[in-house]
Amino acid sequence: MNLILLGPPGAGKGTQASRLVKERGLVQLSTGDMLRAAVAAQTPVGQKAKAVMESGGLVSDDIVNGILSERLDSPDIANGFILDGYPRTAVQADALGEMLAAKGLTLDHVIELEVDEEALVERITGRFSCASCGEGYHDIFKQPRVEGVCDVCGSTAFKRRPDDNAETVRARMEEYHAKTAPILPHYEALGIVARVDGMADMESVAASIDKLLDAEAAG
Ligand code: AMP
Repeated sequence: MNLILLGPPGAGKGTQASRLVKERGLVQLSTGDMLRAAVAAQTPVGQKAKAVMESGGLVSDDIVNGILSERLDSPDIANGFILDGYPRTAVQADALGEMLAAKGLTLDHVIELEVDEEALVERITGRFSCASCGEGYHDIFKQPRVEGVCDVCGSTAFKRRPDDNAETVRARMEEYHAKTAPILPHYEALGIVARVDGMADMESVAASIDKLLDAEAAG
């Protein structure tokens, strides 16, 4: 099963994707994670992407299409994948269509997480994660059970994304409206778009997505 998760920054795409990885053995393909890794490793791609990411703008289609295409060549995607944060523009959506056709792959669902954007600013600016295992936390909604200690691995080091500040979040939302939301009609025409209320609590969002995927599996 191959999916796209769509929605503005902070809609919960990453949270739902990592859950689906654990529960269904799908692979999460997050172009944001791939770019952050490139920035950390100071590769040529990372050097080009760093300033754009910090400003909340979009990295060039050529760069992102290149890293995604390479990733789709890995054998681990055979059990299914979740695209998280890609495609984000019409050019990327077209490129994806061509890549999938060339590799004999199809998309089963495009899931759009619908959200109240003002609430998202609070959601995003409060988030942080374990620097060791990556478990996600939030200042208001999900503190570690013991303050300063990761519930999962016990690490005491945490990190925040540099682009998770109010100003950058608003720029990222504008990019979403201007460039990403307009690709939805393309997938609507294929009859594969489902909308899920992303403002519900994490478990309800998960249940709605599971219902959709299980209905598909039941045929
Ligand atoms: P994300 O982790 O998906 O929120 O992405 C973080 C940042 O990485 C974005 O604000 C963009 O600067 C960049 N980025 C991630 N995915 C893409 C993409 N598909 N196209 C262009 N830029 C991207």
